[in-house]
Amino acid sequence: MASFFETKIEFLKGVGPQKAALLNTELNIFTYGDLIQHYPFRYEDRSKIYRISEINEDIPNIQLYGEVRHIELVGSGLKKRLVVQLADSSGTIELVWFKGINWVVKKLKPGTAYLVFGKPVRYGSKYNIAHPEIDIPGNQQTGGLHYQPIYSTTEKLKRRLLDSKGIAMLQEALLKLAFAHIPETLPLPIMNGYKLLPKKDAVVQIHFPSDSVQLQAAQFRLKFEEFFYIQLRLLKLRLTRIEKYKGIVLTNTQLIKDFYHDHLPFTLTDAQKRVIKEAYHDMRSGKQMNRLLQGDVGSGKTMVAFICMLQAVGSQAQAALMAPTEILADQHFQGLKAYAEKIGIRIAKLTGSTKKKDRRILHEKLQSGETNILVGTHALLEDEVQFHKLGLAVVDEQHRFGVAQRAKLWQKTDNIYPHVLVMTATPIPRTLAMTLYGDLDVSVIDELPSGRKPIKTVHFFDSARLRLFGFLKEQIALGRQVYIVYPLIEESEKLDYNNLMEGYESISRAFPGVPISIVHGKMKPEDKDFEMQRFVRNETKIMVATTVIEVGVNVPNASVMVVENAERFGLAQLHQLRGRVGRGADQSYCFLTTGYKLSKEGRLRINTLVQTNNGFEIADIDLKLRGPGEITGTQQSGVLDLLIADLGKDGDILQQARQAAQALLAVDPELNNAENAPVRRQIDAQKKTAINWSRIS
Ligand code: ADP
Ligand code: MG
Repeated sequence: MASFFETKIEFLKGVGPQKAALLNTELNIFTYGDLIQHYPFRYEDRSKIYRISEINEDIPNIQLYGEVRHIELVGSGLKKRLVVQLADSSGTIELVWFKGINWVVKKLKPGTAYLVFGKPVRYGSKYNIAHPEIDIPGNQQTGGLHYQPIYSTTEKLKRRLLDSKGIAMLQEALLKLAFAHIPETLPLPIMNGYKLLPKKDAVVQIHFPSDSVQLQAAQFRLKFEEFFYIQLRLLKLRLTRIEKYKGIVLTNTQLIKDFYHDHLPFTLTDAQKRVIKEAYHDMRSGKQMNRLLQGDVGSGKTMVAFICMLQAVGSQAQAALMAPTEILADQHFQGLKAYAEKIGIRIAKLTGSTKKKDRRILHEKLQSGETNILVGTHALLEDEVQFHKLGLAVVDEQHRFGVAQRAKLWQKTDNIYPHVLVMTATPIPRTLAMTLYGDLDVSVIDELPSGRKPIKTVHFFDSARLRLFGFLKEQIALGRQVYIVYPLIEESEKLDYNNLMEGYESISRAFPGVPISIVHGKMKPEDKDFEMQRFVRNETKIMVATTVIEVGVNVPNASVMVVENAERFGLAQLHQLRGRVGRGADQSYCFLTTGYKLSKEGRLRINTLVQTNNGFEIADIDLKLRGPGEITGTQQSGVLDLLIADLGKDGDILQQARQAAQALLAVDPELNNAENAPVRRQIDAQKKTAINWSRIS
């Protein structure tokens, strides 16, 4: 059966070697199977006919039915155009052609009714449609009253008549041959339980839906299936991992107790306690911990990590903490060092700028076990960094690291894997977490330390700058510190830099006598660090920076964040930036400044920030706006190359599919039951083409 779908595309009637070669290179379509899975990316709804009076700008394409009243050639030379009046009982609209005029004139007859399809554009108070498609009703071949599939294609293919319509014709031909060969890929109980269309019908309906109900049913079925198999893999991986991978048994909690009773600088929040307990049980279980810790900025993840590290160190093992930037690694190091010294454990730092001779000593102490905790950047992953006995690896701000790097930390010990705690401040929406980290256990800190006042977020237009500066002066007079952040313009580092420098100068002029720091990407790491440290020590009052300060940096006395050109930042990024303030007891503020001109999306981003401080809510909206690849930086890995499902929109289908996969594995973990034969077959079929899933866990 599988072999039918492996048939080379050139053998399909109407394709042949030349078109086949183009389909290969342009759309990655090599086989029947590839073509049939080249699903339409949208449909034109020709099942409905609008009245001319109903036209509005929110309807992208529209089908009208009306009589051609008047045909006129207007203008001359390049400006020559054909203007046609179309009328129905509700009004009239102009249809316009700039090209192919002769052909249209021949085809259209005044007094005759046509189906017209196109995109209405408004000019003043009137609409017109340029180059609409014209059809006579009842002509099923090209138009008619139904949904038309729209396929992605390319200019080269179009020149070979493989535009969307051309591809639709191939699909039609293929479906006739293929229908009998399409295997059912889900077990019957699941089909019944979730009311899923049979695979065969779903495939037909996804290409040529007979109506909107069938289209939805087909989409649901195919999305469900796609999620189901992802979840099944992840859940199986997790089962295998739990069974197979031993973890170092870490049971000694004496150090934790000492620290807890004598040196803990604050009371832990209930959420922190809960997460510590979860990790505690994992680490003593003998199985490898693989836990994702999600917690909004400022929720106190570092302390959780430190206490977990104490469990490792107290049990004669070592711990490592990897941060995404030098600044952050340093801050973690400084912070943890203060705690570590109090209870007499040794901590070291390793980053890209660690000197060679220091490195040698550091490597030695690490290998002998003298160093208990190592904090650093990617440098930790280098091969010559060898631990005596690594018990716990903590990865901070996961989204900055590739998934492959996470795996690399594990391999620092030969036979037994260290426990892994991955911390992220970008709350990953549930749907995404389930897909990306479906094989991990997830802990959430959903509570900020008490006494924090929610940050006040205000949107300012550039023109109100003087008022804003006035407020900043008051805050500085009160002893507070201020961040002013400029966007990074990826296309032009130079523009970026100029923008920042201009800003810096105008701020210097506006705040005479106030010490100001500046940090940007072009500075040497040590200069950056120096400036950052001055700000941390409260020697400078204003920090002017690009987004280098985005992640993790902690200056509790800084209570104001100003984001310039805020419309140019993504939602998650703005939320991260805002999280730099609100870390002390003072009321904190975040000012988002923009010009008057804001895109719809830009406005939505700003309003979202103004309205909520909840990182999970923000992450959900962000996912919908940007799509998943951007958020996690996994575009490259192919993990999120979904054929039809959309993580941003199909969260509830994912939930159901996961549930189904869980239930199935609970009963039949080895997939031995007869009714699960379709699942076994499908997994085998996917194995041939699938990406290496073990890489992402
Ligand atoms: P994040 O989760 O963003 O990494 P941090 O670990 O940097 O947050 O913590 C933010 C600040 O809150 C730090 O100054 C930390 O010392 C403080 N903090 C952490 N937990 C508590 C707590 N339970 N009570 C009061 N302050 C806390
Ligand atoms: Mg942090």
